[in-house]
Amino acid sequence: MSEESEESTIVTHPFLDLAPLSAEHFASIERRVAGLLDTSQDVVIMQGEALLPLEGAIRGTARPGTVALNIVTGPYGQTFGDWLRDSGARVYDLAVPFHTAVTAEQVRDALAEHPETDFVSLVHAEAATGNTNPVAEIGEVVREHGALFYLDAVASIAAEPVLPDAWGVDLCVIGAQKAMGGPAGVSAVSVSARAWERMESNPQAPRHSYLSLLDWKHRWIDGERKALLHAPAQLEMLALEACVERIEAEGLDALMARHARAAAATRAGALALGGGIEPYVYEARDAAPVATTLRAPAGIDASELVARALAVDPVLPLVAGGGALAKEMIRVNHYGPQATRGVVQSSLAALGGALAEMEGTGAPVDLEGARRAVAAAWV
Ligand SMILES: *Cc1c(COP(=O)(O)O)cnc(C)c1O
Repeated sequence: MSEESEESTIVTHPFLDLAPLSAEHFASIERRVAGLLDTSQDVVIMQGEALLPLEGAIRGTARPGTVALNIVTGPYGQTFGDWLRDSGARVYDLAVPFHTAVTAEQVRDALAEHPETDFVSLVHAEAATGNTNPVAEIGEVVREHGALFYLDAVASIAAEPVLPDAWGVDLCVIGAQKAMGGPAGVSAVSVSARAWERMESNPQAPRHSYLSLLDWKHRWIDGERKALLHAPAQLEMLALEACVERIEAEGLDALMARHARAAAATRAGALALGGGIEPYVYEARDAAPVATTLRAPAGIDASELVARALAVDPVLPLVAGGGALAKEMIRVNHYGPQATRGVVQSSLAALGGALAEMEGTGAPVDLEGARRAVAAAWV
């Protein structure tokens, strides 16, 4: 084969044959992500979905002798308790029903009951249940107590304020796949000085491991961000950069305001729609801006309702609840670019249409009322 014909058989593709991502470029993406958290703590971008830093941060700081208060307001809190126990920690679970939020008072009482607690884990907002917790107030209680404070902010970042420094969060994990409207394959964690100390003094903290935050501290941060540990997930990093650029162009405040409007409008629209559909989270103040969960009417299977709604409009961000919630919960995932009035209107119209079909002449569905309620709430 001649040189030319050999080259002409190689097909180019925008995802392929990219120049390597330099350490400098990687560090600049990291700085911009840190900007979203308004933090002076170290921010590490981890080369995996958010479960990687979520697990790495727990295994890095927990050990036999750790006493953890694990706040459970949804399925993620349950997972954190499992990792904590597996790390040898003594764990006290503070569980509240998934349709509410935990209060700072409840956390204060739990810490008074277990004064030896030196680790508190909390999920800020749970996309899976649609609730959000008052982290600023809880942070004050945790700081007073002196425990290390671990926060899963994957579903709150870019939908509502996430302020690790102001709230005294020692380990704050974020991912781009929810309100940021970005890729799922990379994630980030901010780490306070005392969280690093906890890991340094933990003989069982992962080292020379994909789960290790300390490896990034020793080889990347302490080396002044000159050399990466391994080839980064390049496409995901470029997508993360594009997504942060898009957020900067819109403005983080504007993006958060859009999520707040989408959540308020979905809630108001669902209440006006009738047909027995209701917000899953009882109080509006406990409802997460990132996604709105609804309760299917009695006798109606949420999975079937969602399947019928999607048959009409397959691009809508509708999904039934996970696991045991699949029969009763409908999630309207108005994430990032989907947090628009149009998407909220179409989602409720599709659900209302499907509901009318399934209920026949049962509870009346008020499509026009829902439309007006969404418009009125979109202020
Ligand atoms: C979405 C989410 C994650 C990330 O999980 P995926 O299901 O992989 O998107 C982690 N924590 C919370 C609280 C989340 O809502």
